[in-house]
Amino acid sequence: MPTTGEKPGPGIYACRDCGERVILDDPDDTLPPCPECDGTDYD
Ligand SMILES: [Zn+2]
Repeated sequence: MPTTGEKPGPGIYACRDCGERVILDDPDDTLPPCPECDGTDYD
């Protein structure tokens, strides 16, 4: 389970709390806090 601050690689990650999706398109991108609820856990 990826969390904020990790670099899980390119993909689409859904916030566990609200379902907001964050798209990472670069292997060096760091997963941000959820833009909707500031959650830090993603599926
Ligand atoms: Zn959220």
